[in-house]
Amino acid sequence: NKQVILRDYVYGFPKESDMHVGDSKIKLKVPEGSSAVLVKNLYLSCDPYQRTRMKKIEDGGRIVSFTPGSPLTGFGVAKVLDSGHANFKEGDLVWGLTGWEEYSLINSTESLFKIQHTDVPLSYYTGLLGMPGLTAYVGFYEVASPKKGEYVFVSAASGAVGQLVGQFAKLLGCYVVGSAGSKEKVDLLKNKFGFDEAFNYKEEQDLVAALKRYFPEGIDIYFENVGGKTLDAVLLNMRDHGRIAVCGMISQYNLDEFEGIKNLIHIIYKRVLVQGFSVTDYYHLYPKFLEFVLPQIREGKIVYVEDTAEGLENGPAALVGLFSGRNVGKQVIVVAHE
Ligand code: NDP
Repeated sequence: NKQVILRDYVYGFPKESDMHVGDSKIKLKVPEGSSAVLVKNLYLSCDPYQRTRMKKIEDGGRIVSFTPGSPLTGFGVAKVLDSGHANFKEGDLVWGLTGWEEYSLINSTESLFKIQHTDVPLSYYTGLLGMPGLTAYVGFYEVASPKKGEYVFVSAASGAVGQLVGQFAKLLGCYVVGSAGSKEKVDLLKNKFGFDEAFNYKEEQDLVAALKRYFPEGIDIYFENVGGKTLDAVLLNMRDHGRIAVCGMISQYNLDEFEGIKNLIHIIYKRVLVQGFSVTDYYHLYPKFLEFVLPQIREGKIVYVEDTAEGLENGPAALVGLFSGRNVGKQVIVVAHE
């Protein structure tokens, strides 16, 4: 059973060599009397939050560290090979929390969901139809309280979450601008995902001026994925009663000490509502989300771009690549083709 194993806790920018590919023996059978589920992993998801789990977390919050010497865990799509649990049977396709390995014995099945719709690519259950898709949906519709015609700005806009936020905003009739880190990504935003405008934040000397250019009347909704300098520039460009849905701050994940934000006082001047959220609080909305999004996919109204790495051995590079923007779209690892 090939596995991606964390060598030790990681500090600073993560490197491929922080992980190695090992081998372990696994019995391809659920132990007698156990309610575990044995799966063959097909697709694994690379998600920025996994970086946080690579460090030693002392405060006992809801995010738990990975264990050095053990395989990483994360979201994935898998096929059930054997099951001691009444809700799952051999041959079922599932998505949810699994191990970064070829086969996983999943003891706790509360984060495992049966896949009911297979007329869409299965890998979508790591992104569009999985945790990042639900994140975009609840972050935009539930947290940001959007209205038709509003001005929306999305950072890390071509990624797993961002590309969907922009498309949801367009479906509602908003004006949407996205920022991303390369020309290729900017082109995707404008030509594939239908953003009204997009810019490469790495080429802008003055982010405040760039945002003024695209939002002369200010921003109603900022969907925050990156934090740091971008957030500071956004605060100077918010409109009265604007909302900031704080989804992530990837620019801060590899820092030992978080950067300060200078322009917080504008939250008062502009009566801005800033709300952080975690998708983990919204899984009850997953059926509603599927009902909304599946028809849009089938009709081609929502599209999705994935970046696939072939083989578990390419998993470490794919995961680390999120932090240099190497991924174009949702980063997926193909472990096996069914
Ligand atoms: P992406 O697919 O967008 O991949 C990460 C992207 O972030 C990279 O491709 C890169 O794009 C950008 N990036 C990396 N480093 C920096 C930096 N220093 N400054 C600016 N941009 C950077 O990831 P996801 O869509 O999966 O996640 C997006 C955000 O959503 C993350 O912050 C994540 O933690 C958060 N999240 C939060 C959830 C929640 O429940 N609150 C759930 C899921 C995700 P580029 O080339 O454009 O720089």
